[in-house]
Amino acid sequence: MSTVRETFGLCCPKCRQDDRLMVQITNTAKLHGDGTEAVGDDEWSIDSPCGCTDCNYWSTVTEFTVTEGGQP
Ligand SMILES: [Zn+2]
Repeated sequence: MSTVRETFGLCCPKCRQDDRLMVQITNTAKLHGDGTEAVGDDEWSIDSPCGCTDCNYWSTVTEFTVTEGGQP
């Protein structure tokens, strides 16, 4: 199984773990009379809000990006 660090190149810059990260995504939904239906792909970018639920550090994806050398 791949890690978040391996798949997305992200880890928490504060506590260094990568298995409790959250990212705010945008999606497109079709509107119905009784609700919504997601129809698009999840989209997020380096400017998206990103956080760690382990240490509760929140910033943007940029700050969570692992730089060359293996640490943010
Ligand atoms: Zn953290």
